[in-house]
Amino acid sequence: MSATLWAEMDDYIVERLLPADPVLDEALAASAKAGLPAISVSAAQGQMLHLFARMIGARRILEIGTLGGYSAIFLARALPADGKLVTLEFEPRHAEVARANLARAGLSDKVDLRVGRAIDTLPKLEAEGQGPFDLIFIDADKPSNPDYLHWALRLSRPGTVIICDNVVRSGKVLDSESSDANVIGVRRLFDLAGADPRLSSTAVQTVGAKGYDGFALLLVE
Ligand code: SAM
Repeated sequence: MSATLWAEMDDYIVERLLPADPVLDEALAASAKAGLPAISVSAAQGQMLHLFARMIGARRILEIGTLGGYSAIFLARALPADGKLVTLEFEPRHAEVARANLARAGLSDKVDLRVGRAIDTLPKLEAEGQGPFDLIFIDADKPSNPDYLHWALRLSRPGTVIICDNVVRSGKVLDSESSDANVIGVRRLFDLAGADPRLSSTAVQTVGAKGYDGFALLLVE
């Protein structure tokens, strides 16, 4: 099995199951044109986030790691008219591209994009009484995953769904001796989630346009 085959299969899935979507295509093109890294979720994964949000009837969503707003478009589109997505981004340049993409998607009113280190913004959200969120998508700097899980729990309620991306990393996460800060951050997240009686958790390995990776799925009890 090869990365090419996984990517071709992803194309097939998207072609057959997802409606053609010029807005999303344009968001990716604008992100690439602005020089943003191609590290957004895939279309199939974005649609999965969208469906999760709709399946739980999410009205308030928190995303940590906006990039160019690609996953934010999938998530915000799942919200009802009075719903809100709060999305956190450190890089002003990424945020600028995301704002333009969200505006083109007609979603500016539903999205509250905060620029700054997420670890500084999260306590502010709590102080403002922004929680609890129904769905929380963690997809920023992986070494901070343990801190993000901590804040996700503070900003959640029983029934909140927490999804954390990139928790397999081509299997590198198996290496308990790894000095890779991303791997260490993910392993710590697994340890914390597995030991926390407030959470029912799993992780699913994935292959596709984004290679071999996976996401963790945590339900707050
Ligand atoms: N969720 C996006 C999507 O699928 O379209 C992709 C997010 S990308 C994997 C990670 C983003 O997190 C980058 O834009 C990066 O600048 C941002 N980031 C990195 N460190 C951060 C931090 N400390 N606080 C907030 N955002 C951060």
